[in-house]
Amino acid sequence: MMKPILHLALGLAMAMSGAASAAPIRQMAITIDDLPVGPGSMHSTPEQEVITERLIATLLEHDVPAIGFVNEGKLEVDGSVDPARRALLVRWLDAGLELGNHGYAHLDLNRVDPAEWQADVLRGERVLRPLLAERNQRPRYFRHPFLRTGRSLEVKSSTEAFLAAHDYQVAPVTIDNQEWIFGGAYARASDDPGRRERLGETYVDYMLAIVAYYEQQAEAIVGEAIPHVLLLHAYALNADWLDPLLSKLAERGYRFIPLEDALAHPVYSSKDAYVGRVGISWLHRWALGRGMPESTFEGEPTLPGWLQQ
Ligand SMILES: [Zn+2]
Repeated sequence: MMKPILHLALGLAMAMSGAASAAPIRQMAITIDDLPVGPGSMHSTPEQEVITERLIATLLEHDVPAIGFVNEGKLEVDGSVDPARRALLVRWLDAGLELGNHGYAHLDLNRVDPAEWQADVLRGERVLRPLLAERNQRPRYFRHPFLRTGRSLEVKSSTEAFLAAHDYQVAPVTIDNQEWIFGGAYARASDDPGRRERLGETYVDYMLAIVAYYEQQAEAIVGEAIPHVLLLHAYALNADWLDPLLSKLAERGYRFIPLEDALAHPVYSSKDAYVGRVGISWLHRWALGRGMPESTFEGEPTLPGWLQQ
């Protein structure tokens, strides 16, 4: 009588170990900054339309409930909002994607007067808030430009209070990276397909190494895998190369979730008491808050030398 049950149990155990050897289930929220299109104003409105359409098509194809963070200053041409650029935001919303505020002029909180910075946050929702209200939505998240959140506890806490008073939740980042360097180089290489190919392939490899690094950092700092928040930008680079990157992430076991779902994990309630000059990953903020040494952060993948020059 025992034998068939034992066989069944063994079979089940083997099936389970088989499942365990496949890629584990991992979760990631994808956040895309500098909408409608960065960097700066390097692209004409028709070019921005192409970049936006390709980016959105890729996100929909991979079933990614991304959130885009808008710099309303980038909507303006000759001092007033260009309806064609405003329409790019409508495209994001029509695709079922969320939009948040990233400041009107992308001001660095560590460099400007906090009152000026706060005024820029409100200036950055003059198009967004009515646009979302048409759909019974409101801007829920704020992403700090450069991830810079204040150089003193006083500025940091008064800023947090200001954002909360305006119903904004801070959008943290766990997987910080130097994608923006690839993005700038890619935008400048528009007439050099060979260089673009090299940049794109190197970018995908670099991002996979970065993701692996932050998976390891989560284990080291939090003690377990966490739902990550990845920072990317609305760049031509991603219009062309986000597709293979998302495929590789899916192969690695990633499922793409809304920012709201990622932030529901208790680790995102950890204290961020970091004050400093540069913007850093929230994982590293939590580590510093837990008294961990900076040596914990060693091993972050670096850019290839040819790109640093
Ligand atoms: Zn930005």
